[in-house]
Amino acid sequence: MNWTYLNKDFITREEVKISPFDRGFLFGDGVYEVIPIYERKAFLLEEHIARLGRSLVLTGIKRPKKWNKIPEIIDNLVERNLFDNQSVYLQITRGEDSVRNHIPDPKVEPTLFITSSELKVNPYRLNPEIKGLAVKILEDPRWDRCDIKAVTLLSNVIAMREANIEGKDGVIFCNKGKITEGASSNVFAVFDNLVVTSPESNQILSGITRKHVLSLLSAKGIKALEKDLNLVDLYKAEEVWMTSSTQEIQPVRKIDEIIIKTKSPKDSLWFELLTSYFY
Ligand code: PMP
Repeated sequence: MNWTYLNKDFITREEVKISPFDRGFLFGDGVYEVIPIYERKAFLLEEHIARLGRSLVLTGIKRPKKWNKIPEIIDNLVERNLFDNQSVYLQITRGEDSVRNHIPDPKVEPTLFITSSELKVNPYRLNPEIKGLAVKILEDPRWDRCDIKAVTLLSNVIAMREANIEGKDGVIFCNKGKITEGASSNVFAVFDNLVVTSPESNQILSGITRKHVLSLLSAKGIKALEKDLNLVDLYKAEEVWMTSSTQEIQPVRKIDEIIIKTKSPKDSLWFELLTSYFY
């Protein structure tokens, strides 16, 4: 049995139902988080909740009544479900309106939905020697508020679908020659032992893993800069990585048709960071 949580009840996946009048369905009017669970414990939960709170403020979506209970509800849901390592998906939409109207009725109560699935072990942990990711570069087609973790992900879906059809593992978006981020990850590159990642802005999501990796680097005394990352430089990088809560850190081997000259994992920074990821 797979348990989910909707508004105030734990219900099974088969039982869960949401009205098509929910603004999440009609307008994509909602925000979300994906929280990794290791050995049944949420990782960096406070950071995820803080970002969710920010997304609610920026969209003017109300906090659900159970807001303060969310950590407890996640714990309970994780206990009910099968796997020790899970990926918790939490979504809050503006709620169910009586008619479809762009202007939301202020009386509408938000919908809180939480579900979880198995979090697969990062394949680069199981075998760091496997080939790095092959990614496709695409001009960033998205809106100018990518800092909000909105459920409205059609551009990302179209991009990932296109890359997948071409046999690629992922997408890196680029805005007039500057890397923004991946379709569901942030991007890092290493040049002469200097780590670079695009700065926070409205054009990227401030990844929880991105921040975690920056703090790991700082704890190790490794120099990292948050500055513009040019596509032309990316091809010449010593290492390129993608980071996200479910991918952790994964190395890139191929960008479009260009192969990044990679070192063995034991000589690579991505592997050192992955090895010390939980410290
Ligand atoms: N950028 C985008 C567009 C994403 O969808 C994600 C994954 N949610 C990330 C970056 C990485 O964020 P996080 O490290 O918080 O998972």
